[in-house]
Amino acid sequence: MKPSILDYTQNELETMFPPKFRAKQIFNWVYQHHIDSFSQMENIPKKLREELENDYIISPLKILQKQRSSDGSIKYLFELQDGHTVEAVLLKMKDAEYDEHGELLHHAKFTVCVSSQVGCKVGCAFCLTAKGGFIRNLSAGEIVGQVLEIKKDNDIASNRRVNIVYMGMGEPLDNLENLAKAIRIFANENGLSISPKRQTVSTSGISTKIEKLGKMELGVQLAISLHAVDDALREELIPMNKAYNIASIIRAVKAFPVNTRKRVMFEYLVIKDVNDDIASAKKLIRLLEGIKSKVNLIYFNPYPGTHFERPEPERMKKFQEYLLSKGVLCTIRESKGLDISAACGQLREQELSTT
Ligand code: SAH
Ligand code: SF4
Repeated sequence: MKPSILDYTQNELETMFPPKFRAKQIFNWVYQHHIDSFSQMENIPKKLREELENDYIISPLKILQKQRSSDGSIKYLFELQDGHTVEAVLLKMKDAEYDEHGELLHHAKFTVCVSSQVGCKVGCAFCLTAKGGFIRNLSAGEIVGQVLEIKKDNDIASNRRVNIVYMGMGEPLDNLENLAKAIRIFANENGLSISPKRQTVSTSGISTKIEKLGKMELGVQLAISLHAVDDALREELIPMNKAYNIASIIRAVKAFPVNTRKRVMFEYLVIKDVNDDIASAKKLIRLLEGIKSKVNLIYFNPYPGTHFERPEPERMKKFQEYLLSKGVLCTIRESKGLDISAACGQLREQELSTT
């Protein structure tokens, strides 16, 4: 299996292929010119092009399946070199807008939701990814490749920056080293140039790793999958809560370096008759005291075999209104891509069960 060129930072490429400026040229070709073959890198000596062609591949993943949702989101199933599969989703956050003369006012805004592992160790009771267990970590190149392939597939111009959320399959902080490398490769200005401010790491709450990520000073945004406000319920939903309880997560969040203009996002998966009551909303407010936060309520997305149910929209609205009335920022995540079963792991599961 040949290594992918996407697995290397510019610094690493500088050491591998001197002189120094070559690395910048390679980054440029791969991430800004979207080349499909090393032979297209015109300003690189023929001998090096041949060496690269023989020893490396560009993308470590290929598109196996694609599903388009009525709201414009596209869900991708990628095949990795060893045959395993992972999902990523292109979410259209805003359409392009034109004035009355047909002049472009602003481009469409996109967010790509990427996977960080094949499967997941955390084993959340409500999550389909958890059902298949853990298979392996993704390499930095396999994380970066999801965004690159999606940009290419949609002809998103190389200078159009997208946002990234690490909310696909897997627990990103369980793969911290490769995650940090991917964050840096994304951020490189000779490459995709996606600043860490536009990258959000979502975690089920491994407190010690949240601290570690904070100490790396990468400048990324943080999202916590909280989902429950007392430890007993959270343990039922997220078994790992026994080792990393709610108090330890809140402590870690308070120590996390947040960009002064940003907030920590708290994701709260709302499950019918489990955590959708106002008493929970009250406790949530108390927990978040002193944190510059924003709550994102998510409808539980059912799948065959689960006993959990989607909450009623009125309950969801009441929960949101309560938080808002107490001055806590709170949005309800539009069920983008619901018709393509967008919650993580669902497309892969369909594919596995039909093959
Ligand atoms: N492991 C990380 C990131 C991937 S999961 C984490 O847990 O944060 C991304 C989000 O999808 C999490 O907030 C998770 O709770 C949510 N999710 C998982 N299963 C879901 C389902 N069936 N319906 C809706 N959201 C789900
Ligand atoms: Fe893993 Fe996140 Fe799914 Fe939990 S919700 S099993 S942490 S991917």
